[in-house]
Amino acid sequence: MWNKVVIAGGGTAGWMTAALMAKTLCRAGFEVCLIESPTITTVGVGEATIPSFVHFNRLLGIDEKDLLKKVKATFKLGINFINWDKPGSDYIHGFSALGDQGPGLPFYHYWLRWQKRHPDTNIEDYFLASSCARKNKFMHPDPAVSSLFSGLGYAYHIDASLYAEYLKDYATSRNVKHIKADITDIRLNPSTGYIESLRLDDATVIAGDFFIDCTGFKSLLLGGALKVPFISWQKWLKCDRAQVVPTALTNENFVPYTKAVAQIAGWQWRIPLQHRVGNGLVYSSAYMDDNQAQSLLLSQIDSEPLAQPRMLSFTAGMRARFWEKNCVAVGLSSGFLEPLESTSIHMIQSAISRLSMLFPNAETNSVLAKQFNQETSAEMEKIRDFVILHYCLNNRSKEPFWQDCQNMALPDSLKHKLELYRNTAYIHHDHNDVFTEGSWLSVLVGQGVLPRHSMQMINTMPDEQLDHYMKSVRHQIAALSGQMPLHRDYIQRMLMV
Ligand SMILES: Cc1cc2nc3c(=O)[nH]c(=O)nc-3n(C[C@H](O)[C@H](O)[C@H](O)COP(=O)(O)OP(=O)(O)OC[C@H]3O[C@@H](n4cnc5c(N)ncnc54)[C@H](O)[C@@H]3O)c2cc1C
Repeated sequence: MWNKVVIAGGGTAGWMTAALMAKTLCRAGFEVCLIESPTITTVGVGEATIPSFVHFNRLLGIDEKDLLKKVKATFKLGINFINWDKPGSDYIHGFSALGDQGPGLPFYHYWLRWQKRHPDTNIEDYFLASSCARKNKFMHPDPAVSSLFSGLGYAYHIDASLYAEYLKDYATSRNVKHIKADITDIRLNPSTGYIESLRLDDATVIAGDFFIDCTGFKSLLLGGALKVPFISWQKWLKCDRAQVVPTALTNENFVPYTKAVAQIAGWQWRIPLQHRVGNGLVYSSAYMDDNQAQSLLLSQIDSEPLAQPRMLSFTAGMRARFWEKNCVAVGLSSGFLEPLESTSIHMIQSAISRLSMLFPNAETNSVLAKQFNQETSAEMEKIRDFVILHYCLNNRSKEPFWQDCQNMALPDSLKHKLELYRNTAYIHHDHNDVFTEGSWLSVLVGQGVLPRHSMQMINTMPDEQLDHYMKSVRHQIAALSGQMPLHRDYIQRMLMV
């Protein structure tokens, strides 16, 4: 029986892992400890999330109001992409389903047919989340009102450092042991190569049955001691740096969405929290130097900076395996995709949920590792393709960075998906894909890509019936979003009670 679990690292990944283990394994009598360096800082940037994050906190039994207060969160209904198609273009990838369930085929097929007859139609009028975001409105979905309303997905913008602190309290009060020390050595069993123990800078030795590597980009256990190679995706995702700076909150930037503005060699984010705004410029160092990037960021922020900008370096990609011998890497130690679709924290929770379910013993370890690795890489590759989509579909005509993105050879999986959509209007979606057909369509349409043909089946609905149906969905969405309170008022009222 393996029942001694050691988590190396205390960033967002380490504490999310510890919290879920506290809820699951500790209750079953496992011993879990987390080792965190008192000197090595965390990345601490992950501020934007996707709707699965709401479910993760619910699963932990965390009270939403308490969480929102303590991590200074705002609500997030999607991402506003500006200048991605070409300068002046503007679309929202919203978190709700597109339209309703559709009378036969998924709704997007009806929208695509409608669009052929009404080329000026705006897809955002059929996404409840986008419609609310445009109006700066928010309220919790209420299934009692309508199925359209219950389909409103939402996530949070959070202060990542406060979130790690929150989970630290959660985990340590539920039997996770917290050790503050630097790991200086990783001892492997000479015959099996399995990790036996970690040596700390005060000479303590921490032995364990199973180790979770949350040491960030260093990947001390999986990449370092177990030598699992890193697969780079930089040929598709060229950005490798970020400059980040917090700024003052204003009434104008307290919006329920993340802003992602394409810039000369990358893009800039803006994330509103209750006490400040997070900003960052993600860029490729091959096309823009660090000084240029910093000046560009400071010239584009819309309120007073609250600190000096700081720089982070990264490479897009993943480890060839996430689970090797008796070690699983979670968080940045397992791989990284730039924050364009805010997916890193999702990948953390997905990995630890999978691990909790597949938790091994000495006999089951290898076969479970194989399964875990297959599922995790499939999920990560789908997200990779979705992120690449934003870059490869750009129609910006002047900058070398964007032109190189237009001309790059795509992964086969994405090439096929695009070909299928362009020729048949079919968006293939399977359970590994975090992003729904509606998400894919909002980026495709937002960046000007419409299919050549529609599905045969869609033409069975008479035109007048289609007109009536589309108008009714649009009116319901306009009415629902119109009735909602302003995002800021909603949060203020919610936190006062
Ligand atoms: C520019 C940027 C923007 C991002 N934005 C988002 C976003 O909007 N949304 C999102 O979901 N994600 C985002 N991310 C990703 C997100 O920040 C990470 O997924 C998240 O912070 C998890 O990091 P981590 O815990 O894996 O690593 P880290 O935060 O680096 O933590 C590593 C931990 O390991 C410890 N450690 C390291 N070496 C040792 C040692 N020798 N001994 C003991 N301890 C050690 C450190 O002290 C630290 O506690 C962003 C990332 C970057 C780079």
